[in-house]
Amino acid sequence: MPEMKISFLGTGSGTSTNSAHTAIAYDCDDGTRLLVDTSSGNSVARNGSELGMPVESFNTVLLSHHHFDHMSGLIYVQQARSQARQDAPPLDVYLTRESLGWLIKLCDSNPTTVAADQEGAKNASGRQVMLWHVTEPGQEINLGPTTKASCFPADHIPGAVGWRVDTDGMGVVFSADTRFNPELVKASQGAELLIHEAFRTDADKELAAGRGHSTSGDAARSAAQSGVNELILTHLDTGFSREPQPLIDDAKNHFGGPISAVRDLQQVTLSRP
Ligand SMILES: [Zn+2]
Ligand SMILES: [Zn+2]
Repeated sequence: MPEMKISFLGTGSGTSTNSAHTAIAYDCDDGTRLLVDTSSGNSVARNGSELGMPVESFNTVLLSHHHFDHMSGLIYVQQARSQARQDAPPLDVYLTRESLGWLIKLCDSNPTTVAADQEGAKNASGRQVMLWHVTEPGQEINLGPTTKASCFPADHIPGAVGWRVDTDGMGVVFSADTRFNPELVKASQGAELLIHEAFRTDADKELAAGRGHSTSGDAARSAAQSGVNELILTHLDTGFSREPQPLIDDAKNHFGGPISAVRDLQQVTLSRP
């Protein structure tokens, strides 16, 4: 029975004050472990260790876009990882060309930690600690014996993408930050689970779209149009992390499958008979 364990290391929006910023770990059926976005600060290391997944156990990162709440934690992830595992191979980072431009700037702003070029980054000792893999939307990437991934454009900022990961034929889609996104609906066909951002309820539709985000209603409409079995809401703002029920109630108006809203350190196991 194929299984995938999903660990939410950060579930807060960029303005959240009571949850870590976005990072999700996927443990795929074939043993492949993926980190999807890297939160900010040391959240991946801190929350990962709480769940028994030390930072040095991550070898592969999928990035959605360059906003600080998704990408800036990468600097700390690689530093802690390379300190913990002197023999670690470079961390493989998959991202779009636009995101890479910003990531190199981020590395340049931490010159005592990493030195980046178009291929990857070296640490202060000259050791190769990261390798970049520029990915085009729709391009299929093999990440494990039965695990593959592909990104699709998000409607947020230039170069932003969501990710679909399939392991042993079971598909999980992460929206990243986005307004309601027809590209996501296309990319999600046949997937089991949609993990979607939810900034506000439909009552604040204009506000959410103006900031490049979705409502919980948008997330649920996407889930319904994609034909997924289940919807998980994440990237929640402070008030909704404490009390997510309004988001869930809003989503229920548009999607009949199971809907939940996640908190930091929550784990979900997805399986298919
Ligand atoms: Zn964000
Ligand atoms: Zn963003």
